[in-house]
Amino acid sequence: MIIDVRHLLPSGSGFTGRYDLALAEVIRRVWHHTVSHISWNTAANATQDEEIAHLIAIDLMHAAWSLNGIGYHNAAFASGRAYQVGSYDKARAHVASGQNSYSIGTVLIGNLTDSLPSEGHMAAAKECKRSIEDFYRRNLEGLPHLLVPGQSTACPGARWSEWVPLLEKGEEEMAFTEQDRATLSSIFERSRSALVKPKGRPEVYEFNEDEGRLIHLVGLAVFNVTRHTFDDVQELPTDHPIWKLPVTYPGGIPNELR
Ligand SMILES: [Zn+2]
Repeated sequence: MIIDVRHLLPSGSGFTGRYDLALAEVIRRVWHHTVSHISWNTAANATQDEEIAHLIAIDLMHAAWSLNGIGYHNAAFASGRAYQVGSYDKARAHVASGQNSYSIGTVLIGNLTDSLPSEGHMAAAKECKRSIEDFYRRNLEGLPHLLVPGQSTACPGARWSEWVPLLEKGEEEMAFTEQDRATLSSIFERSRSALVKPKGRPEVYEFNEDEGRLIHLVGLAVFNVTRHTFDDVQELPTDHPIWKLPVTYPGGIPNELR
């Protein structure tokens, strides 16, 4: 159950947000991490009061930045607790380029720049997702912040492709289905360099011969593969030696592939 703390935010914007959202225009949920200047009260054994104090500090900080209070709609802590900090029918300030009118923001509290969320984070994040979709009574597309159009950010960290798909599809649905395979072969029929990891995490990589490393291009659980065009593709077993090469996550998908 999500814990509603909208009434506790000192900015007073918990219920009001910045402006009304046109509900039919809201198309997505966005995943963030905080990397905040505030690092206290984030441990898995933090109490509920300590976590609320953390949220209040973010609210005050964002209010000082003229964002009209905390920029997100809900928040997931490592303890497994999830909090609603903003009404889902009001806009907040978590994405750039006018995208706040179309987006609901969920933040994982902590620094995921180079690390994965904890089990507690993941459970709380699922609660946040459920809470938003219960309100909207439909599924919303879930994107990591860096893949929302018009953003210039590394949020929510370099390893997002390892956890965002799990939140969006669930682990048991991650493996390629026959239909995924058929779709991929038809799209990537004439490939020179794109590689697909066929089992486990459904993702697409490019092998950079010059640098001897893999470039991570796309996680199928997040993206609509039909929007992507490569010249060629190879499906390699998960135990192929190439998967031992270092992988670069360029911080998003090149625009020409969107
Ligand atoms: Zn973000």
